[in-house]
Amino acid sequence: QDGEVQKAQRAAEASEEPGQRPPTIFSKIIDRTIRADILYEDDKCLAFRDVAPQAPVHFLVIPKHPIPRLSRVAAGDAELLGHLLVVASQTAKVEGLVDGYRVVINDGKRGSQSVYHLHLHVLGGRQMGWPPG
Ligand code: ADP
Repeated sequence: QDGEVQKAQRAAEASEEPGQRPPTIFSKIIDRTIRADILYEDDKCLAFRDVAPQAPVHFLVIPKHPIPRLSRVAAGDAELLGHLLVVASQTAKVEGLVDGYRVVINDGKRGSQSVYHLHLHVLGGRQMGWPPG
């Protein structure tokens, strides 16, 4: 019988399957292999509109360095993660989201993550509900 440790280890291995690791479609957006509506770019990150918007304003902020998911970040990523939030805030302002907005990070299967390149969703321009689905 499996103990909790083995179970957790198997789950971790499963989440490292090909297809749940960079490079993803977002790497192709970074290197301009595929087009995106880019709102902001600097040497560390990129913000671009979500191709299937779930609100009147819906954009993503991603690090150029491909961290696969939030549960894989390390202490050394702290500055980069902080930078992503600052860029999310500044870009939301430029997008006119003066009455508030929602920032979401989906992690893994239970979090409904589908692209395994860490990204912040920024959604606004309508009233958000709580709890999210
Ligand atoms: P979910 O698909 O459940 O929202 P994620 O949190 O992984 O899971 O979100 C990935 C997001 O990337 C989705 O909102 C999707 O619409 C968006 N997306 C996928 N491909 C592109 C693309 N080529 N350009 C812009 N956004 C994209």
